[in-house]
Amino acid sequence: MSVVHQWIDGAPYEGTPLRIVPIENPATGKNIGEVALASKEDLDHAVEVARTAQKAWAHTSLAKRVAVMYKMRELVLAHQDDIAKAIVAEHGKDYSDAVGEIQRGRETLDFACGINAAIKGEYSFDVSSGVDIHTIKQPVGVVAGICPFNFPVMVPMWMHPIALASGNAFILKPATPTPTASFLIAELYKEAGLPDGLFNIVCGGREMVTDILEHPGIDAISFVGSTPVARIVQEKGCAAGKRVQALGGANNHAIVMPDADIEFAAKHISAAAFGAAGERCMALPIVVSVGGIGTKLAEKVAEHAKTIKVGYGIDEGVQMGPVISAKAKERIIGMIDRAEDAGATVILDGRRFVVPGYEGGHFLSPTIVTNVPRDCDLYTDEVFGPVLAIVEAEDYEEAISIVNAQPFGNGSAIFTNDGGVARRFQMEVEAGMVGVNVPIPTPVAYYSFGGWKDSLLGDLHIHGPEGLKFYTRTKAITERWPSESGTYEATMSFQREE
Ligand code: NAD
Repeated sequence: MSVVHQWIDGAPYEGTPLRIVPIENPATGKNIGEVALASKEDLDHAVEVARTAQKAWAHTSLAKRVAVMYKMRELVLAHQDDIAKAIVAEHGKDYSDAVGEIQRGRETLDFACGINAAIKGEYSFDVSSGVDIHTIKQPVGVVAGICPFNFPVMVPMWMHPIALASGNAFILKPATPTPTASFLIAELYKEAGLPDGLFNIVCGGREMVTDILEHPGIDAISFVGSTPVARIVQEKGCAAGKRVQALGGANNHAIVMPDADIEFAAKHISAAAFGAAGERCMALPIVVSVGGIGTKLAEKVAEHAKTIKVGYGIDEGVQMGPVISAKAKERIIGMIDRAEDAGATVILDGRRFVVPGYEGGHFLSPTIVTNVPRDCDLYTDEVFGPVLAIVEAEDYEEAISIVNAQPFGNGSAIFTNDGGVARRFQMEVEAGMVGVNVPIPTPVAYYSFGGWKDSLLGDLHIHGPEGLKFYTRTKAITERWPSESGTYEATMSFQREE
């Protein structure tokens, strides 16, 4: 069985792993490989190599850095099929969704190709007599990216193109269940001409995260994952003096107003709730239906959900794969069971679904639950599975108060034909990404991505302009030249000239 090791200094690196753990294909339940979890010594080596490489890279011209990004973009496109297959084998999502993930990731490469324009500083001439001021954005140094299992390519790609293009070295820690695609990306960076030591991979779980958080040679950390881990990363990383951005979990709500086009809403809600088996931080697990339309809406969503072909993501026509593990499946079923026991109605039940030929896979089919009490964990917690819960509200005011009462604030959407209500919603909803008749309002990569409240700890969002801000430090330079300033009198005062 093949073993995935680390990638350090432009090549695979065996090092001294802590232990070796299996990689499972969630559609078959069979082990398809193994991953070696890196030791602290392996991380030390990666950091040392990255620090050395970064010093030279920071002085490499923008033109050369951008040329690597252009080449990388071309290579990712050319190798899309291999990368997508690696994602499907370890994550389980369907092939077209895996391609979609790569395309979304590539948008950040597009942004990085234009970093020379985005990284420009500011200049003011003669702020005082003979004195000019300008700003430059310099790299932070060595940055680490700690990533979740659910987007093995897109989430790291929210980070490394901008980090690298702006002059940093990058150390990626992929999620243990889905490491392989990251190694294909590492090979492509090498082929694109990125100097060795700038893109490194260390595999591992909680121990490796702790080592990264404590490592004095790492300057900044981008984390994407669940909120409890985001909290640990933010607290420990900041305590160790690092710059940290930590994107957490979600429990996205959409409001459906009685004036909405119900057919349109149902079709889009079905896709948003069940796409990637609900394993997206921008999935839509909760709908708040307004004005007594809940039953009709649930029936319409169920019509669409029943047409979704569930199976092994590589097979023709499959639109939804398994969840990541037997444990995840069991947890999701437990949440549905408890909601049912508390009085909810399961109008579409995917708990006992089996895909013929893949009996060992961790499959569930789309599940829709109505009359969900708002104190059961199916409502309060992130389900991260193919389950849609519908709750009812009398009017818009009640609906928005339900949405805003929850602790997460990643994405939120409204379905309506009333522009006035849509505008109020945009202003009032407490979420970082908002959709109007768009159930998954994921911004394009030249905007930034991030939630509010428990969905993002720290302040800066990821990728786009805020990503660039995160990976750079601004320096303001005030200058005067003696040949010219000699004509002005020196002053001991701290005041500027009027
Ligand atoms: P996770 O929090 O379990 O793991 C994320 C990373 O943290 C992994 O690399 C993992 O190895 C590490 N980790 C896990 N437990 C740890 C611990 N106790 N201490 C230190 N490190 C630990 O998340 P996941 O299950 O891989 O991914 C799903 C979660 O990620 C969901 O909550 C989802 O909403 C979230 N997510 C958020 C976004 C976003 O943009 N906000 C995007 C994708 C996924």
